[in-house]
Amino acid sequence: MNVFDLIAKEQQRQNENIELIASENFVSENVLKAVGSCLTNKYAEGYPVNRTSGSRGRYYGGCEIVNEIEEYCCDLWRKVFQTDYHVNVQPHCGSNANFAAYMSVLKPGDTILSMNLDNGAHLTHGSPVNFSGKLYHMEFYGVTPEGFIDYDDMEAKAEALQPKLILAGASAYSRIIDFERFAAVAKKVGAYFMVDMAHIAGLVAAGEHPTPFGLADIITTTTHKTLRGPRGGLIFCRPELARKVDSAVFPGSQGGPLLHVIAGKAIAAEEALQPEFKEYAHNVRVNCRAMCDEFLKMGYDVVTGGTDNHLFLLDLTKTGLSGKEVQDELDLHHITLNKNCVPQEKRSPAQTSGVRIGTAAMTTKGYGPEDFIRVAHQIDCVIRGMQKARENA
Ligand code: PLP
Repeated sequence: MNVFDLIAKEQQRQNENIELIASENFVSENVLKAVGSCLTNKYAEGYPVNRTSGSRGRYYGGCEIVNEIEEYCCDLWRKVFQTDYHVNVQPHCGSNANFAAYMSVLKPGDTILSMNLDNGAHLTHGSPVNFSGKLYHMEFYGVTPEGFIDYDDMEAKAEALQPKLILAGASAYSRIIDFERFAAVAKKVGAYFMVDMAHIAGLVAAGEHPTPFGLADIITTTTHKTLRGPRGGLIFCRPELARKVDSAVFPGSQGGPLLHVIAGKAIAAEEALQPEFKEYAHNVRVNCRAMCDEFLKMGYDVVTGGTDNHLFLLDLTKTGLSGKEVQDELDLHHITLNKNCVPQEKRSPAQTSGVRIGTAAMTTKGYGPEDFIRVAHQIDCVIRGMQKARENA
């Protein structure tokens, strides 16, 4: 096997396919360059010495240059979100960021109140097969029958269960999240308020979604979705939690940081600070609305009846087709998306009754509303073809 041949094939797939997976994006050449750089050779367990958390420095020599890179990266991300929160740029991914965030303020067995997994939460928000569901006592708030977060349910459960931490954020939720309401409830019951903004972070950075800064105690994100950076995670926290968060990342749950990825995160932050990024994030939303409206016009059911962000969920129940079948058939037509549960899901998570569609990646490739409308019709054509084939079978 020649790995470089396979990379070339994957490059071709990425060039030719219409990429609608809501959690993916295409990074710039400069991000790729940083991630593929000599920084991958360097060990640097620990933190630069002058961190606000009072770090004891690195455990290896030769870190002068990577210290500068990590500090620069931290400064940039605080600028991106216009915040004086402490930031840790070392988490290797979003799941690691969530692991360390929980570990920083919770003990195993503590109660977390998070969004129901069938309604769009991530595995690390309490799935029984994930560390979160195994280590913590998880309780869940749900969504209304239309698919909106049920804030009254969240408040009632918070009052009844007195969780140590309330979590907002999701992988498949298409509406604005009311962080103020969450923060007020957390304050009332004396819980930490954590936001996992992995999906919407690019929109938050560009002012296209309300910010959780100033409201949440801890904020985690990935850098590779709407933020358009390398695969990785970030944790922000109120300055008084800095020491706890830093030690939960290292030595709590990781070893040496991935400095090549931290350099890529710094480049992504530089890019997010450019006026073009604001325009990009705005276009992601405009495109998403245009595509979603087209599906509604064609008679499709959309969870919550629309979208406020970079994604929406098509409810395929009335087509008789499963999300898995539609995902697989679209793959054959070079359209890439993923199956997704819908509210009150009747099928298994392996099948599902819906698909999730996102516009972040193809907006990076320059698609505008007309392009997304065209793709909506291509998808409709495939779905109608599948229905016809089923009728004739
Ligand atoms: N949090 C949310 C809301 C996500 O959607 C995801 C990934 O899709 C993650 C965390 C985990 O990120 P990673 O795949 O980098 O571990």
